[in-house]
Amino acid sequence: MKKRNDRFDAGRRALIGKGIQVAAMGSVAALGALAASPAGAQAKVSQATAMYQDKPNGTQRCDACMQFIPGKTPTSSGTCKLVEGVISPHGWCGLFVAKV
Ligand code: SF4
Repeated sequence: MKKRNDRFDAGRRALIGKGIQVAAMGSVAALGALAASPAGAQAKVSQATAMYQDKPNGTQRCDACMQFIPGKTPTSSGTCKLVEGVISPHGWCGLFVAKV
């Protein structure tokens, strides 16, 4: 005959086991999504999502950001590793990360 705590422990173990199965299924789905994208490819977000603006935010601007890919000249527009579209060197967005 099982004690009350034994039944509780068995139920708890079953729930923990289910939780691990669900977590594992989520990880497999995430790996599948990564595997489906070409190597090195990174999905970009829209300018609206990144809260992009074509003017600086104080001293922060795209040409001082790690993600900026410059245009042909220092003053011409470029692109961004994270944000879609044409990016002004004088622009800014919420994903700004200063160059080191
Ligand atoms: S992450 Fe934002 S701030 Fe940095 S270059 Fe891209 S658009 Fe500009």
